[in-house]
Amino acid sequence: MELLKQKILDEGTVLSGNVLKVDSFLNHQLDPMLTMQMGAEFANRFENCRVDKILTIESSGIAIALATALKFNVPLVFARKKKSVLMNEETYSTEVFSYTKQETSNITVLKKFLPAGEKILIIDDFLASGEAAVGLANLVRLAGCEVVGIGIVIEKSFQSGADKLKQAGYRLESLVRIGSLDDCKVTFL
Ligand code: 5GP
Repeated sequence: MELLKQKILDEGTVLSGNVLKVDSFLNHQLDPMLTMQMGAEFANRFENCRVDKILTIESSGIAIALATALKFNVPLVFARKKKSVLMNEETYSTEVFSYTKQETSNITVLKKFLPAGEKILIIDDFLASGEAAVGLANLVRLAGCEVVGIGIVIEKSFQSGADKLKQAGYRLESLVRIGSLDDCKVTFL
């Protein structure tokens, strides 16, 4: 997606530890027009699939997932990273290690929002080691639903997540693929 590549080159900065900071349009401030275009692009790529629901993880996945859900005209569910007292019903949970926060959290969804048999499209902002995506896929499996695909905004292809997901048999669609962040420079594949 050329528009997204240009935005990353114009506004992204590379931090130590192979982290790309894109807080001006994806992770803190949001660009509504670009967000809607990214949702439309995911909808195009998965247009031949039956999608009953979009699943993401709070918080940065929510906006793009909403844009995608709007195109499919289906609900969006986001997994929560912290259990609140309001989640006083039956849940599915799985452990996920956060690449940027360097901590493990239990991600949770209420069972009633993932009824068995649904076809689920997973959407997230970044793919690094694949922990978040695998965690979301685990929730789908626990619910007796099916992952129709995984849509990622920025895939860091030099990290292990993309291979892990493909080896597990998931269809992966990334809007941009980064081959390296060496020397603080973004190189696309
Ligand atoms: P993974 O679980 O694949 O290791 O990492 C994906 C999650 O970590 C994403 O949901 C995202 O929040 C965060 N993340 C991983 N790498 C980056 C990065 O380079 N930049 C930003 N902003 N977030 C990242």
